[in-house]
Amino acid sequence: MDSFKNIPEKDWLDWHWQIKNRVMDLETLVRYISLTDQEKKDIKTVLKQFRMAVTPYYLSRINPDDPCDPIRRQAIPTILETHRDASDLDDPLHEDIDSPAPGLTHRYPDRVLLLTTHICSMYCRHCTRRRKVGDNEDCHFTKEQLTRAFNYIREHKEVRDIVVSGGDPFTLSDQEIEWILSELRKIDHVEIIRFGTRTPVVMPMRITPELCSMLKRYHPVYINTHFNHYNEITPEAKRACEMLADHGMPLGNQSVLLRGVNDDPAVMKKLCYELLKIRVKPYYIYQCDMSVGISHFRTPLSAGIRIIENLRGHISGLGVPHFVIDAPGGGGKVPVMPTYIISQAPGKIVLRNYEGRIVTCADPPIDNLEQKEELSRYYSQEGVAELLNTGKPAIDPDRLAKKGPRRG
Ligand SMILES: *Cc1c(COP(=O)(O)O)cnc(C)c1O
Ligand code: SF4
Repeated sequence: MDSFKNIPEKDWLDWHWQIKNRVMDLETLVRYISLTDQEKKDIKTVLKQFRMAVTPYYLSRINPDDPCDPIRRQAIPTILETHRDASDLDDPLHEDIDSPAPGLTHRYPDRVLLLTTHICSMYCRHCTRRRKVGDNEDCHFTKEQLTRAFNYIREHKEVRDIVVSGGDPFTLSDQEIEWILSELRKIDHVEIIRFGTRTPVVMPMRITPELCSMLKRYHPVYINTHFNHYNEITPEAKRACEMLADHGMPLGNQSVLLRGVNDDPAVMKKLCYELLKIRVKPYYIYQCDMSVGISHFRTPLSAGIRIIENLRGHISGLGVPHFVIDAPGGGGKVPVMPTYIISQAPGKIVLRNYEGRIVTCADPPIDNLEQKEELSRYYSQEGVAELLNTGKPAIDPDRLAKKGPRRG
């Protein structure tokens, strides 16, 4: 079996070398990973439908002889991907349907998702956007398409937070990233810019001092990355995250709950500890969604609830992410957790803590209902919050609202 041990360090640490030498076909893969004849046949079949690319760096973290290696499961195709489950959907999150401009999804009141490229340095086998990502490797969005997205943002003054994602935006050059940042910073009402990137996990040498100093000029810039298992937290990944943090970028992590990779509370707890040590705050754990060809990764909802039960109260609150389901059909992220409120009565609530102690708290009436005029735009006028903040009595689905109030 070949290994990457003899690659000169100056090549190994050069992200262009890593991209150029990605393993994209079976012939190259068999030099580094042991595969049965059946697995070889299966990978050939899958590659007709979905692209494979693994950076030499990420591939080198796989134990070549362990078929259950958690990095291998994320990077190397299996025949299960060709299975189309009855519940699979082509665009489960309605990112295309809810899109007012190329690459743009505007789902929440004050923030948008902006896709800038379809390219990633490593294609995750569990990718939710796999219908697009990696389809066509020439496919960064053009300046003309991005300009249409910027125009939309400019015309929508309520948008104050931009999530720049893809694909992986850090596959763009420093110049391209800087162009996007400088265009966004020309829009006065854009306050926060965030990047969603898997680069610190799959190609940490891309995080260079030059990239970091450039990003720093456009603060506040946040980074959300995507570690799924503690084996991914290597000295190289640590160095990349620390460099970003040293340049003032707060780092969050978004994991996807994956069967056979991280659906064990012990694995997640260790991951959360290790993330905090490299200054990355666990932000979300996503329930694996309904995209085509990833049903073998899905876990029952109870797996996520069990994980939160093992974290909340047991480890630092800083290390406890929100477990969310991105609801199909553009419903957005819905948090799910164990139930902590046991009962309520006027003036009193009954709670349970992580130890199972059942405690009561006096629940005082709210006396500051007078909404402050100067803060009026911060009181949400949408969703369930509207019921709390206004005189609106109920939210009825259209079908029920038409019937009028229910009687008897
Ligand atoms: C996840 C997501 C965001 C950002 O959500 P936060 O909860 O603020 O991190 C914004 N837009 C879309 C479409 C998203 O899916
Ligand atoms: S890095 Fe993100 S967009 Fe790219 S393949 Fe992985 S999950 Fe998909």
